[in-house]
Amino acid sequence: FMMLTKKLIEIRNILKTIEGNEALRLPSIVVIGSQSSGKSSVLEAIVGHEFLPKGTNMVTRRPIELTLVNAPAGSEEYGEFPQLGLGRIRDFLQIQSTLRDMNMAVSDEECISPKPIELRIHSPNVPDLTLVDLPGYIQVTTRGQPIELKSRIASLCETYIQEPNIILTVCPADVDLANSEALMAARRVDPLGLRTIGVISKTDLVPPEQAVSILENHDYPLLLGYVGVVCKAGGGRGGGKSGDAMVRRARDREEQYFQGHAAFHRKDLALGTGTLRRKLTEVLEEYMGRNLDGIVDAVQGELDESRYQYKVQYNDRRISAESYVADTMDEIKQSFKELTRQLDKPRLRSEVRALLEQRVMDISGNGRWKHRLDVASAHLTKSGVGRSVTQHIVDVLHSQLHLIAEAGNLGMHPATQERVMSFATDILRNKYGVTVNQVENTIKPFKFDIECTESEWNEGVKRARSLVEREMAMCEAALQGIKTSVGKRRLRAGIQHILSRERDMAARKKRREEAEEMEEPLEERDLVSTQYSPILLEKARETMALRQRMFVLRYRLAALKSKGCRTSSGKAMCPEAFLSVVAEKLTYTSVMFLQVELLNEFFFQFPREVDDRLYYDLDKASLTAFARENPEIRRQLDLLERRSKLEEVMEKLGYLARGRKESGSSAY
Ligand code: GDP
Repeated sequence: FMMLTKKLIEIRNILKTIEGNEALRLPSIVVIGSQSSGKSSVLEAIVGHEFLPKGTNMVTRRPIELTLVNAPAGSEEYGEFPQLGLGRIRDFLQIQSTLRDMNMAVSDEECISPKPIELRIHSPNVPDLTLVDLPGYIQVTTRGQPIELKSRIASLCETYIQEPNIILTVCPADVDLANSEALMAARRVDPLGLRTIGVISKTDLVPPEQAVSILENHDYPLLLGYVGVVCKAGGGRGGGKSGDAMVRRARDREEQYFQGHAAFHRKDLALGTGTLRRKLTEVLEEYMGRNLDGIVDAVQGELDESRYQYKVQYNDRRISAESYVADTMDEIKQSFKELTRQLDKPRLRSEVRALLEQRVMDISGNGRWKHRLDVASAHLTKSGVGRSVTQHIVDVLHSQLHLIAEAGNLGMHPATQERVMSFATDILRNKYGVTVNQVENTIKPFKFDIECTESEWNEGVKRARSLVEREMAMCEAALQGIKTSVGKRRLRAGIQHILSRERDMAARKKRREEAEEMEEPLEERDLVSTQYSPILLEKARETMALRQRMFVLRYRLAALKSKGCRTSSGKAMCPEAFLSVVAEKLTYTSVMFLQVELLNEFFFQFPREVDDRLYYDLDKASLTAFARENPEIRRQLDLLERRSKLEEVMEKLGYLARGRKESGSSAY
């Protein structure tokens, strides 16, 4: 039967990691007692090591959930803190100091915390047991402690002594049992004493006859009885081996003590730590066994439920952190591939062309170069084309990448989005300088001389026309927009007002000049204040400017359509046609090098960086952390994990239940 407890403790530890199922609880032994009742000494005697923090300053501030795992004879002894992941700790003094640190991390003001510390001890010298050490009951609070500390300790203990746990009450022999806070608390939740074991500590402090009468348990009978112990572990500050040696010595002393007094020589008395350990194991074993069928049913119920949920919600589709990460990477690469297809030469040309044509319009709108074609053309070729087209394409790439980063799974992972953007930026930055120089170098010839065939000219004229027409359409639309928003009438009135005001101003200026000439005093008349809003006047001014622009554009379009523009010999008459030819040459040449120096490199490197920096870089823990950033995936993974844990538990339980039936469980 020893195996049963061991297996059930394993199962219990798995169940504990499944969140939110109070129903699935296996019993453990909860140790309660007043401060200085000898609780720590008893626990250390059971474990056979000094490992609990000692001191007067409330050293147990959190529950310690202690799992003892019986290891095969000859194997090493060690403890581990599963929450901390420190690995095996073979030095029990280090366990002690870790426990002290974890307890003291709870501040003096807070004083106790319900968050349990988990500790597992593997040793050939311990039985399979799960014990919970709780803060000792206190009588009064001392200075600096919260007033409600007493009641908080009591209510923390209260939660642990509920079914199905077994209660171990530690009461010192030299204090009247009637005053034992622990015993009272136990009697409140277990009035018949069915699951309470009494430990009478410090039996050596009272005359043997008195100890015996307590142990006979007439006053506060418990079904599971009382065990008397003597386990003065020593002053505490003993180091390492000596601490353990003290525990051993204490055990010898205990044996000598009980043997040395005739009053204890009775078969019906339960005496000594050895007896206590056996009793605890038996009782836990029986409780676990008794709970087995109930637990099997409860786990089966939970399992069915989570299987059903998984089927309904996810149609049983398998998923793992790994598969999710792989999917996400594929998704990024797919959309990147799509991007490389979109950003082909024609698309690049149209981007660069649009940029340069804007410049053409700006230059030809500027009257100063109207008659100096070479200056106008130089203005285009020497305007830092290399830098601006490269920057423009980098910007285009950036905004496309942003779209990729924000779409799909990656949208759920802001930190990774940022990383993607940052290494994309790194690659682009690396290529930037070279590309700028290359483009600038290759367009150099155009800075001096531009040859233009007749067919290039014709194309240029066509493009220039449509440019001007597009510009006109934009002007028209803007004018129309203002008209409908302001209203024809008001707009006209506004314009009229501005015009008459301008005339007024001109007239005043003239009069002032005349007055100055005649040296006559000038009587100023105030301008008529207006009922027109500044917004209306603003719109009126805009309209006037747009009309002016329309006028110029119409004139330019007429020039482009005129006879003079039919052949390239008419260059001087049609500057935008010529500039458009120049722009087109610049476009073709720069796109060639943009593609070679910037895009091809980027398209090649980016997917490799995705693999190297996002995928191969992740260890198991980061993979999981990444997948869990996506709330939907987190939910699915949680449910899946719950399901598989329950399956594991069920398998272990099924094995146990079968084993018990075969060996005949009539013992219970
Ligand atoms: P806790 O506060 O309940 O954990 O109590 P401890 O185990 O720290 O014990 C309190 C004090 O009682 C310590 O000084 C122990 O040495 C002493 N003590 C514990 N058990 C015994 C015992 O069986 N006999 C005697 N004489 N003293 C004991």
